[in-house]
Amino acid sequence: MGLKIYNSLSNQVEEFVPIQPGKVNMYVCGPTVYNHIHIGNARPVVFYDMVKNYLTYLGYEVHFASNITDVDDKIIKQALMEHKTEKEIADYYEKSYFDAVNKLGSSKPDFIPHATEYIPEMIEFIEELIKNGYAYEVDGDVFFRVKKILNYGCLSNQVSEDLEQGARISVNEKKENPLDFSLWKKTDVGIKWSSPFGEGRPGWHTECVVMNHKLFGSEIDIHGGGMDLKFPHHENEIAQNEAIYHNSLAKYWTHVGRLEFEGQKMSKSLHNVIYVKDLENNKKGMIMRMVLIFTPYRNNFSYSQEIFDQYEKVFDKWQRAYRQGLYELQLSERLNQQELDLEAMKVFEEYMNQDFNVQNVMMLIEKLVKDLNVSVRSKAFEGLEKTWNTLHKILSILGIQMYVTPMKNDQLEVYRNWNEARKNKDFEAADIYRQQLVNWGIF
Ligand SMILES: [Zn+2]
Repeated sequence: MGLKIYNSLSNQVEEFVPIQPGKVNMYVCGPTVYNHIHIGNARPVVFYDMVKNYLTYLGYEVHFASNITDVDDKIIKQALMEHKTEKEIADYYEKSYFDAVNKLGSSKPDFIPHATEYIPEMIEFIEELIKNGYAYEVDGDVFFRVKKILNYGCLSNQVSEDLEQGARISVNEKKENPLDFSLWKKTDVGIKWSSPFGEGRPGWHTECVVMNHKLFGSEIDIHGGGMDLKFPHHENEIAQNEAIYHNSLAKYWTHVGRLEFEGQKMSKSLHNVIYVKDLENNKKGMIMRMVLIFTPYRNNFSYSQEIFDQYEKVFDKWQRAYRQGLYELQLSERLNQQELDLEAMKVFEEYMNQDFNVQNVMMLIEKLVKDLNVSVRSKAFEGLEKTWNTLHKILSILGIQMYVTPMKNDQLEVYRNWNEARKNKDFEAADIYRQQLVNWGIF
């Protein structure tokens, strides 16, 4: 049984079959860089990093892109507020974003396209939409003609009439239809580019479509992002793509659920926003990764400090077992052996293949940790070696680091002496060795 993924387009769990055998092109909508990211924004950051790791483990060649939106009303507003240029604002918060990515134990994507690097391509694309009757220009603004797309609303399962009702709240007299969305915005404030439609800047929904095509050339395998992007952003990406390329941009559309703080939306006014930058150190970042990874990705999730504290205990327990296992392997000169517990790996794959059933994976890890502790106590080195290797492998696919390094030679020597002293019931000597190991941070 191969990997199965929930596809938001069909609302079903589907067999994952990439467009080209052996290769996966994946695109995830990245941040608009005008603020630090909070732990809700971090959910896709850790989930898709894990997806990439797992697909790579399955043997796929994965090309993972995630964009940076570095032109937007919010960035312009922030720049005016801070008396800086848009570029200064965007650069500063992009750096903060990748610091957070790193703290959460995620790798940088393979491609990081910036919206401002693709302005000529976006203008060209908008011209193409106008030429084909899918867009219209009104006094320097360009809008997409939603009526031309028959299946508009297919992703969010809404019919155009209902959507129209909702859109009427924000009436723009220039639009033919309240649902029509902006492709090019005429502007007087902030950064702008010249175009055949006049000076302005591109709309957000156009960015992702154009960058996808520039990077991947055709329909991609997986498109991802937070649940709140489903409508209108992803719906509008699909509409533009249908207009010119006659497909829905990606074969599998995936969405990560929302995160709330104790049942309430995180917001500045409620003072309940938790920023990744404020997690004290990399260990706290790793515990936050565990919190986010082991919550089923499609569910909305109510976060609390208690949950974090529980995971901190779990992390410490796993780390203790992992460390003891590592040291025992060093002592018995079995480190760097690659043999895995194939039965456990099979179980791991089965769980992951069920649309990433991480809750079961967590139970599997708990079992491996227990087995490892038993092997350490009974010095059953052969079992220990396989269990430790398997635990290490699974944790690395999930992107969970234990921050434990092998002992150095002198430390190893003292550790051996400590073991020996204990065996000979020389408790006085054992205490001295033990203290030395404590001083080194081995215990
Ligand atoms: Zn996007």
